[in-house]
Amino acid sequence: MGIRFKNTMSGRVEEFVPLDEGKVRMYHCGPTVYTYAHIGNFRSFLLGDLLRRLLEFHGYEVEQVMNITDVGHMTVDTHDAGEDKMEKAARESGKSPMEMARFYEEAFFGDLDALNIKRAMAYPRASEHIEEMIELTGALIEKGIGYQSGDAILYDISKFPGYGQLSHKRLEDLQAGAGGRLTDEMMAAKRNPGDFRLWKTDPNHVLQWDSPWGRGYPGWHLECSVMARKYLGDTLDIHTGGEDNIFPHHESERAQIEPITGKPFVRYWIHNRHLMCEGTKMSKSLGNFYTVRGLVSEGFDPIAIRYLLISGHYQASLNFTKETLKGAWESVVRIRQFVSRMEEAAARPAAAAGGGSDGGGASSAGATASEQAVDAAIETFMKQFTESIDDDLNVSKALGHLFDFMREVNRAEPTGAAAGRAAEAMRRVDRVLGILKAEEAHEDDAEIDTLVREREDARAGRDFARADQIRDELAARGIVIEDSKEGTRWYRK
Ligand SMILES: [Zn+2]
Repeated sequence: MGIRFKNTMSGRVEEFVPLDEGKVRMYHCGPTVYTYAHIGNFRSFLLGDLLRRLLEFHGYEVEQVMNITDVGHMTVDTHDAGEDKMEKAARESGKSPMEMARFYEEAFFGDLDALNIKRAMAYPRASEHIEEMIELTGALIEKGIGYQSGDAILYDISKFPGYGQLSHKRLEDLQAGAGGRLTDEMMAAKRNPGDFRLWKTDPNHVLQWDSPWGRGYPGWHLECSVMARKYLGDTLDIHTGGEDNIFPHHESERAQIEPITGKPFVRYWIHNRHLMCEGTKMSKSLGNFYTVRGLVSEGFDPIAIRYLLISGHYQASLNFTKETLKGAWESVVRIRQFVSRMEEAAARPAAAAGGGSDGGGASSAGATASEQAVDAAIETFMKQFTESIDDDLNVSKALGHLFDFMREVNRAEPTGAAAGRAAEAMRRVDRVLGILKAEEAHEDDAEIDTLVREREDARAGRDFARADQIRDELAARGIVIEDSKEGTRWYRK
């Protein structure tokens, strides 16, 4: 069975098949840089990181993009209510919006590193793509979908038959439901109550740009449509975000781009549940939030935060408490200690060479039994871990297998190469989990994977000279490869 994800569009767990074989184009809605992101936001960013690591684990080439919202995100996430978050926060802090944006962007990257989140291919800023947003708005007007109403350009949702498909809302409900949030004046200006803003002419707004409709600023949803397409093409394989983004943000993103490209915007929409804090949703507005740096200043390790946030299923409700964070850290420590112990044991000769008083016979047989137990445990573990993580990112089940594996290996008390193989298996799964210390992971893992695959291809094509050449090259780097019916595996000597 291949990798499966819950696709919000269909509401079902589906097998993942990218548009182009071996390559994945993935987009994540990024932070709005008007303050520090809280750990509820990072639950969402960690989902992206986990997906990327899983896909790379399976040999996919991943093109990953995350936007930085530094303009146009309203304080209230309905279609067009509230004021710009950037502008409001800048006014309150006394900084210019761009000064503030750069400051929190830096802080965001610092948090990414602390949480061991791999850097994406690009982090485009909304403020640097206004030109493209104006172009898209123009194109939508030309199609008869965008229309001028007072000082705004609005999107006519009745012109896009698929509107509501992603969020599973019916157009009729949208028509009726939006009324309560809108003033009579706003209602009168709209063709449909659910119409959202593409452009707002407002010469008094702090952030403003020239457009064919006067100086003003773009609607929030435009940026992701524009930047996703610019960096990843017309159709993305995966688009993620928090569940709060499904409507109106993602619904509107696809409504803006699909009529222009005539192609599906996204093949798999993946959304995480929001993080709870002591029983209620963690949010800036409720004030019940924690930041990475805040928790670090209280003495927590950021990797404990990472572990806690990835260990629950992304679709399950997760309640954050400092108690659970402590528990997460204990698990990380146990895992790290196990790996260190195996590495130390790997440096010692295998038990057979221990030189007991009554000769090597019995201890040699014992060492073999231990080695067999470890190798059997590795095989089972790698299979179970992969099956669990492939099954809609069931990290908690995968971690359960990991702890079972550690127990079994501990019981076998391996030394020498078998201990080395156990440590190597942990490093291999850590390419998905990202919780071991940096110096315990090897930077050339991906490169070795590529060589091993190349050798497999050479063997399949009966190019044995090339296959042997690769084997020698790997051997020179201390890499041992083993071929079996299930394929080739490798470990470090
Ligand atoms: Zn977005």
